[in-house]
Amino acid sequence: MARNCSMQDAQSRDDVRHVLGISGGKDSAALAIYIQDHYPQIHGRMEYFFTDTGAELQEVYDFLDKLEAYLGKEIVRLSSGRDFEHWLKMHSDYLPSPRQRWCTRAMKIKPFEAFVGDDPVISYIGIRADEDREGYISHKETIQAVFPFIEDGLIRADIFRILEDSVGVPEYYKWRSRSGCFFCFFQRQDEWLGLKRNHPHLFEEARRLEEVAGNGYTWVQGKTLDDVVARAEEREAAGEFLNNDCEMSWQELLEVGEDDDPEDQSCLICSL
Ligand code: SF4
Repeated sequence: MARNCSMQDAQSRDDVRHVLGISGGKDSAALAIYIQDHYPQIHGRMEYFFTDTGAELQEVYDFLDKLEAYLGKEIVRLSSGRDFEHWLKMHSDYLPSPRQRWCTRAMKIKPFEAFVGDDPVISYIGIRADEDREGYISHKETIQAVFPFIEDGLIRADIFRILEDSVGVPEYYKWRSRSGCFFCFFQRQDEWLGLKRNHPHLFEEARRLEEVAGNGYTWVQGKTLDDVVARAEEREAAGEFLNNDCEMSWQELLEVGEDDDPEDQSCLICSL
């Protein structure tokens, strides 16, 4: 089982690999910048990586390029070597879901474990001090986890400030609260509507996957994507969504409170 270690211990360890997974979301990006600013020795040794499912939004790639330039270090791109449809076939055409989350295992966790191999590793995790959740921590004995934001007491507002002062928040935050695959089943209704408006071809692709998968499974249990979007439009017309389409400042984003969504807790490796 992986063990935790402190930042103090981590700083003195030059006999291990130091790795930080960038998800394309705000917290892992802010952590990389925080490490660069406050722990330059660790930054010098850090291996930043991003695990590409091949189903990421263009905004994620743009954000990674910006972050890479800011950090002055490569963000190594990992992949399972196969696209989503390959893995879908391998799972008998059953779409993944919060309960059957084979996508994360096949497309995120396995490439990460192949990347670190059996090397002793310290993995830096961007969970904040104001969160009560756990990230993916490998069961490999060789991997230790460290939680700098928790140790140093950083909360959500601090993360937005770090990004505001450096690379900004990823563009998709205007309409979506997390990174990850464009078809991710953890999306909220309004985010599916945001996908349809901002990336209509990707929305159509998600619909197509829903149709080819069959088996009565849909991305949102019991509803097709057309149902989901129709319902989102009704809620929007009734004024139930906050600032969906317009550009939000980070102060407004702070108020949206996406971390209240309990399903976020299941998606840390993809969206931290
Ligand atoms: S982002 Fe969503 S769909 Fe993609 S691997 Fe993670 S949980 Fe699965």
